Amino acid sequence: MIIQKFGGTSVGSAQRMKEVSKLVNDGKKKIVVLSAMSGTTNTLVEIADYLYKKNPVSANEVINTLEHKYMGVIDELYSTGEYKAKACEALKVNFDLLRSLCKNNFFTVFEEKVVLSQGEQMSTAMVNLYMNECGIKSVLLPALDYMRIDKNEEPDTAYIREHLQKELDRLPSDTMIYITQGYICRNAYNEIDNLKRGGSDYSASLIGAAVNADEIQIWTDIDGMHNNDPRFVEGTQPVASLHFEEAAELAYFGAKILHPTCILPAKLANIPVRLLNTMDPAAHGTLISNKLTPHKIEAVAAKDGITAIKIKSGRMLLAYGFLRKVFDCFEIFKTSIDMITTSEVGVSVTIDNTKHLDEIVNELKKFGTVTVEKDMVIICVVGDMNSENTGFQAKIVSALSEIPVRMISYGGSNYNVSFLVKASDKKRALEALSKNLFN
Ligand code: ADP
Ligand code: ASP
Ligand code: MG
Repeated sequence: MIIQKFGGTSVGSAQRMKEVSKLVNDGKKKIVVLSAMSGTTNTLVEIADYLYKKNPVSANEVINTLEHKYMGVIDELYSTGEYKAKACEALKVNFDLLRSLCKNNFFTVFEEKVVLSQGEQMSTAMVNLYMNECGIKSVLLPALDYMRIDKNEEPDTAYIREHLQKELDRLPSDTMIYITQGYICRNAYNEIDNLKRGGSDYSASLIGAAVNADEIQIWTDIDGMHNNDPRFVEGTQPVASLHFEEAAELAYFGAKILHPTCILPAKLANIPVRLLNTMDPAAHGTLISNKLTPHKIEAVAAKDGITAIKIKSGRMLLAYGFLRKVFDCFEIFKTSIDMITTSEVGVSVTIDNTKHLDEIVNELKKFGTVTVEKDMVIICVVGDMNSENTGFQAKIVSALSEIPVRMISYGGSNYNVSFLVKASDKKRALEALSKNLFN
């Protein structure tokens, strides 16, 4: 069994849906994971925003525009009146639901998650119907029947494995193509929930691990993981292969092509992940596996929206337990730390979730002088950086010789060196690294 996940742009128009249907119909048994059509989840966020602000009129206007767009896609996608009618009937359920939420007097995070779940429901229904119209025997595999997160918002892997298998057993055994929704799931209270923005990649790897797939393929609009962020740097190149750890670091530190946590389930189950380009299916893409290319610096990524916090204390050196007290402040407020550097007189950490920043700073003030710097970016250089290797540090540091660097971190893993710089220096830093490391 293989898993093939197609992102928003890959199913972003009637033409793309036709191409995806052709691509998946190759005679191999597979689970196809689809995102919402590109732009849809953002539009659903906008609708939810209007409803939070008690503005159902504007919410309805956005719904009407969205429906108009989908009706256009239906018209182009199907060639028979019968299937056009079937698709309209299927999507009527979603649009009726959205409109009914505009009539409520209340709107909570529960309703918001219901709104956000509509995009994947619509794209999967449309592609499945299109395949059926073409005579391809695909079936829908509803994610809400098996995908689940627990009370800590972590995937409930035992539940997913058991219920996914149950669903597969229930469907006709000669089925070759199962079509399922990425991103959406249920939570511990059986409510509709999701795996956070970009979460369809995560769905694919969780499904892959649950069925012990031979391969997980992530199909998108670019030919694999590039060695730098193509949105900021010109002339980036695809990386042919990456170790799981390298890919996980890149995803976590901002390479948007992968959801931050999507590599972990594949790594634990040792299932190769292949990044492929829907617009150029013959391109090699990137193979992510347990093989490491020795001594090679592979790629650079940047994580935005970082806040640095420094706690300075004259008493730190002799005081054991100082770090524990500092970390406790973050734990109390469920805020995870990305980067840490220490010295004799203090410790600097970075966070990306600033929801409880004021409370955290208040607590930290008990232990020393606290300073906060916002609008920072973590630049992460990834590759084989085993401490036995020599030379890679010098190369990386000299590439950044013109950039003011606030923190440097190496030694947490053998796969990355991270730098904290100001957001205004991000582009310059990424370009300098590309120029010095890859050209
Ligand atoms: P999908 O909708 O298919 O999930 P995404 O937009 O989430 O696609 O991810 C693909 C995009 O990620 C690319 O179009 C590219 O702009 C961006 N990206 C950022 N960093 C990288 C990188 N290092 N390699 C490839 N793509 C990257
Ligand atoms: N549709 C969701 C989003 O736009 C999930 C995904 O595309 O992966 O975030
Ligand atoms: Mg994505």
